[in-house]
Amino acid sequence: MTDLQHNSDAQAKERHSVAIFGGTFDPIHNGHLRSAIEIKEALGVSELRLMPSHRPPLRGAPGAESRQRLAMVNAAICGEVGLFSDDRELKRDGPSYTVDTLRDLRVEMGEAVSLTVVMGSDAFNQLHRWQDWQSLFELANVLLLHRADHPVAAQADVDQFTAARRVTDVCSLKTMSAGGFYELGLIQLPISATDIRQRLASGRSIRYLVPDAVASYIAEHGLYTMKDIGNPV
Ligand code: ATP
Repeated sequence: MTDLQHNSDAQAKERHSVAIFGGTFDPIHNGHLRSAIEIKEALGVSELRLMPSHRPPLRGAPGAESRQRLAMVNAAICGEVGLFSDDRELKRDGPSYTVDTLRDLRVEMGEAVSLTVVMGSDAFNQLHRWQDWQSLFELANVLLLHRADHPVAAQADVDQFTAARRVTDVCSLKTMSAGGFYELGLIQLPISATDIRQRLASGRSIRYLVPDAVASYIAEHGLYTMKDIGNPV
């Protein structure tokens, strides 16, 4: 997509808008869910899709299987208006590169839809290691989510690249099909999946950190016992 197309896209006021919030979701927790709702409201998108990564390229194997992580996402968002899951990465073999996912979404949705991919500052700081990372901006807008425990510290070339694409108002992303960049500061719940796995492995409670339906799924399937808590590389 050319810059010219991006400009004319920016002038189109009404377009279908979708945000993609990807992650390992091992397991999904209330930090993810609270942010998902706030992102959806801030962007004003009609759909926010939580997309579990099948084979996260930059970390070790997850503690739960992909289909279990998807099931927990579905249990967590059941009945929540505007939040959806998207299982397309589970249907592809090999590393789950976001650029491949966005290409797939573009084929499905067409060029006009406003597509925004959300990433936390922990992910953004590693963006230079992502497959074909510059192409992400030809396929989608990028919303950077500040995380208190991960100050933004991207590589200089990523900084320069994103600065040139920065928009001043989060609402502008909805009017662009791709190519925009915005940093959103949210008050986030200090919850991490790593901490939840550790609590489970040591027999402690995870109540109020995840929705009850997710806690029940974990208990029923005996997930995150000591042998399978999953270790980031
Ligand atoms: P882990 O502890 O296993 O690394 P995590 O809790 O960071 O997991 P991920 O599945 O890796 O969760 O994160 C998916 C996305 O959600 C990332 O963009 C990440 O920055 C964001 N995220 C993670 N935790 C929170 C939180 N507490 N609030 C808001 N966003 C979060």
